[in-house]
Amino acid sequence: MPDFSSQAIILRTVDYGDSDKIVTLFTSGYGKVAVIAKGAKKSIKRFGGTLELFSFVDVVWSRGQRKGLPILKEATVIKPFDRIRTDIFKTAYASYWSELIYKWMEAGQRHYSSFELLSHALCCLDKDEIDDDVLSIFFQAKFLAFCGFSPNLERCSLCQKPLDNFSGKSVGFSFKKGGIVCSECLTKKGNISFSRGTLKQLLWMFNAPLDKALRIRFSKESKEEGIRFIETFVTYCFDKEFKSLKFLRDIRN
Ligand SMILES: [Zn+2]
Repeated sequence: MPDFSSQAIILRTVDYGDSDKIVTLFTSGYGKVAVIAKGAKKSIKRFGGTLELFSFVDVVWSRGQRKGLPILKEATVIKPFDRIRTDIFKTAYASYWSELIYKWMEAGQRHYSSFELLSHALCCLDKDEIDDDVLSIFFQAKFLAFCGFSPNLERCSLCQKPLDNFSGKSVGFSFKKGGIVCSECLTKKGNISFSRGTLKQLLWMFNAPLDKALRIRFSKESKEEGIRFIETFVTYCFDKEFKSLKFLRDIRN
């Protein structure tokens, strides 16, 4: 059986039988891959601490038997991201981002930009140099763009009026239209509104390249508005319940 190797992030682990674990990897070369780690549950020695959630690892696996899962042969930790697992908010954010990737990616679908995004976001989360909420707005903005769900934040989704010609301090947003709406077109049903300041910051998050997007400073109000908006929009776009998002919201309260 040929071996495969790749860098990977550990998205999920589930005990399997008495001694094994099923590990879902997000690999740089092959996308999402579920492998069986034989003996990982029973023997601490077999994979040591290499299979911790969110760890950035180098892995080798083989195709396995005809109907069985691929078999994990080696795992080496490159970045353990220990800090994430010892802080409940960081764990909640990493779980949420991992769940988005887990639910959106088809098995075996290579998507290097998403891999780069997740590893970059986990790195920043572990280093603690950027506010966790701002980091999560950034992650979701880039992730939505990769999935083809970027909202229209530049002109009214109904009458096409450009943002610069909008009146008033706040701007409406229609989930159904996937974009902003001017005050003349705004109806209360199914819409929300946020301040122009929040909108400017969101625009920057969506449009700036990966290395520049995180230089932005959010005010407390904009951060709260921004995070509320983007989490609701993600749930709307994917039409899914994210368990980890519910947990995140619970611990925030
Ligand atoms: Zn309009």
